[in-house]
Amino acid sequence: MIKAGRQILLFALAFLAFYCANLTYREFRAIASILFADVGQGKCILVIAPNGKNLLIDAGTQTYGQEGKEETIAKKVIAQFARIGVRKLDAVLVTHCDADHFNLLPTLAAEFQPKLFLAPVGESPEPDWQSVEAVMMNGRTKTIIAQWGQRLWLDTKNGLFVEILAPPEGILPKVSEWSPNDASTVLKLRFGEISALFTGDIGEVGQRWLLNSGANLHATILDVPHHGSKHNLKTFLLSVRPKVAVISAGRQNPFGHPDMSTVETLQSLGARVWVTGWQGNLLIKTDGRNFTLTKL
Ligand SMILES: [Zn+2]
Repeated sequence: MIKAGRQILLFALAFLAFYCANLTYREFRAIASILFADVGQGKCILVIAPNGKNLLIDAGTQTYGQEGKEETIAKKVIAQFARIGVRKLDAVLVTHCDADHFNLLPTLAAEFQPKLFLAPVGESPEPDWQSVEAVMMNGRTKTIIAQWGQRLWLDTKNGLFVEILAPPEGILPKVSEWSPNDASTVLKLRFGEISALFTGDIGEVGQRWLLNSGANLHATILDVPHHGSKHNLKTFLLSVRPKVAVISAGRQNPFGHPDMSTVETLQSLGARVWVTGWQGNLLIKTDGRNFTLTKL
C-alpha cells in the first residue's frame, strides 16, 4: 500500500516537473504574430514582433460610396487590435495610394499615434489621401518614403526585420509602364526560418521585375498580390512557393477577386489558401520555426 502511494507521489512529481518545464519553455519562446484582418474588399495586415513592436501594412477598404463605411470598419479593426493586446502602432506602411489600402488610416492613426509612417512612391489622385497626410502631420509621426533596400528592424534581439524589395529606385508610376499598382511597395519579413512576402497590388510588370531582380522571393507566407486577381503570374507564385497564401478580398466583390485560376495555382503548389472574405480574420503565430493559423 505504502509502495503504491510512493509510486503515485513520484508520478505526480514527475508530471509537475514536466508541466513546469513546458510552461517555462512556452513562456520564453519568442513568438511573432501576423494578423490579416477581414476588412471587406481591401487590405489590412498587422505584424507584431516578439518584443511587442508592430508594423501595420495597409489599412483600407472599398466603400462603394457607402457613407461612413470606413469609420465602422476602422472601429471594428481597433476592437480586434485590442483583443490581441495592441494599443499603439509603431510603424505604418502604405503600399500604394489606392483608397482600399489607406482609407481606414485617418481613424486608426488618430487612435494609435504611429511613430513612423512609410509612405509609397508617387502622388495620389484620391482626395482622401490628403486626410492621411494630414493625420500623419501631427508632430509625433516621422514620415519617410519607403525605398528599395531599406531594412526596418522590429526586434533586433529576436532577429525580426522587414526589407523593401520593390519598387526599384527612380520609378514614377504612370509616367512609365509602371502603374500605381505595379509600383506598390513590396516587403519581405524574416524571423528565423519563417518569412513572409507582402505585395500590395503588384501586377505583371511588378512581378516580372521582382523575378528578374535576383531577390529571394521564396516565402513561407504570401500576402497574395492584388486581392488574388488574375494578374498573378504562375512563374511568380512558383518562385514564392508559399505554405500559406492569404488573399485579402471581400465576399461577393464586383471584381471577381480572387480569380479561381490564381487560387488553383496556389493550391497546386501545396499552399493553404485563406480568403479573408470567405474565412474571416486570420492570425498566424510563429516561433520562427513552426506556425499556427487561427481564425480570430
Ligand atoms: Zn487593392
